[in-house]
Amino acid sequence: MQLRGNDMNLIKPVQFNGKASKRMHVMAKPIGAVCNIDCDYCYYLSKQDLLAYKKGCSPEMDEALLETYIKQYIEQQNTPEIIFSWQGGEPTLLGVDYFKKVVEFQHKYCPPGVVISNDLQTNGTLLNDKWCEFLKANNFLVGLSIDGPELMHNTYRTNRAGRGTFKQVMAGVALLHKYKVRFATLTCVNNVTGQSPLEVYRFLRDVVKSPQMQFIPIVEQKTFRTDAPQTDAEKIQYRQGDNRLIPGDQDSIMEPWCVSDEAWGNFLVVVFNEWVMNDFGKVMVQYFEASVEAWMGNKNPLCTLGELCGKGLALEPNGDVFACDHYVYPEYKIGNINETPLDKMAFSKQQQAFGFSKSRDMNSQCKQCDYQFACYGECPKNRFISNRAGEPGLNYLCAGWKKFFAHIDKPLAHILRHTGHPVAHGKYNDKVMMAAAEQ
Ligand code: SF4
Ligand code: SF4
Repeated sequence: MQLRGNDMNLIKPVQFNGKASKRMHVMAKPIGAVCNIDCDYCYYLSKQDLLAYKKGCSPEMDEALLETYIKQYIEQQNTPEIIFSWQGGEPTLLGVDYFKKVVEFQHKYCPPGVVISNDLQTNGTLLNDKWCEFLKANNFLVGLSIDGPELMHNTYRTNRAGRGTFKQVMAGVALLHKYKVRFATLTCVNNVTGQSPLEVYRFLRDVVKSPQMQFIPIVEQKTFRTDAPQTDAEKIQYRQGDNRLIPGDQDSIMEPWCVSDEAWGNFLVVVFNEWVMNDFGKVMVQYFEASVEAWMGNKNPLCTLGELCGKGLALEPNGDVFACDHYVYPEYKIGNINETPLDKMAFSKQQQAFGFSKSRDMNSQCKQCDYQFACYGECPKNRFISNRAGEPGLNYLCAGWKKFFAHIDKPLAHILRHTGHPVAHGKYNDKVMMAAAEQ
């Protein structure tokens, strides 16, 4: 039997430059939560109050700290590629010159034989020729937030005057194409877009011509601005199926713009059907690509569906570091790069405990689930409901995920088998099919 990459990792640690490979990932927010627009569902704008930035203190990461971060991030990894991720708020508010400095520092500290890559998440409204020339010249991968056709996009993605941002974003899309900047789209699946999966998907495919689509389910309890996940053991966890978990319901604990578990599953199923019939091999949809990996028995490339958390730290402009971008709450601060080296925090016991708890603390419904291999209870920040037996800690989206995984099980197995790939998991995996053939 041939060894696959993952098996080999168990036998011998992966090496680079004659030493054990060392890798971490940080989402840097050099402008913190500051943004030029004001999306209703943004989970980050409220961080400015939560993290109690000093009054009058600029939220921008200053040049000295920027250099410290870049130096540490490069020197404390040992891997052929180092990926910098820039997020906000809206990082383009910092201007092109700020990012020219970023690239300058990266060149200064990059050792021979190492490739540095950058990705930048933006709402797209400030993109212009100067930005696109820079992004192209430095091979940045842009993550562009766009929620669908004009009416859908403008429902929540509005400026401070409450006006939709669709036209500015589409002008940004045109520039990204004009300058051939690499980009992926990020689309929030909320109570509106969640009702129109085909319309959203076809718009992204045919109008935006998105090379890679990422869909993000919007899941926010009404308390999300102040309450960190998993910090209040006394909090009531409603059972799966309870009406109070339905966004828009009179007594709902959810923000009204959220997607329901059912709508999430339906969204994925409908988009998958269109993709598998017409676009397989042509359009990249992140959840589908990740599922292919999971069915083949490979490591899931997405933390939300993988076995472990804790590999992506969040860095605030004052140097504070948090366990994850979705856990930027005082309770989950793991240090500050002015005081503690980044790698000490990334590989600390505290961070490891955070990472392992994803699998360790799965609800018993997940432990017995046919699709555990593809989901692992999804992101812990969404684990705030009880299963039908009353056990807390189940994922709010569980019913949707299960519907999706059950739906793709057979077609994925079929595709993998007919393209000569292993089917390691699912109800139609190679072992099951061989046993059935032998009978
Ligand atoms: S908490 Fe969620 S987003 Fe963060 S690492 Fe875990 S799965 Fe990923
Ligand atoms: S589908 Fe539901 S039960 Fe299965 S692993 Fe995911 S969250 Fe758990």
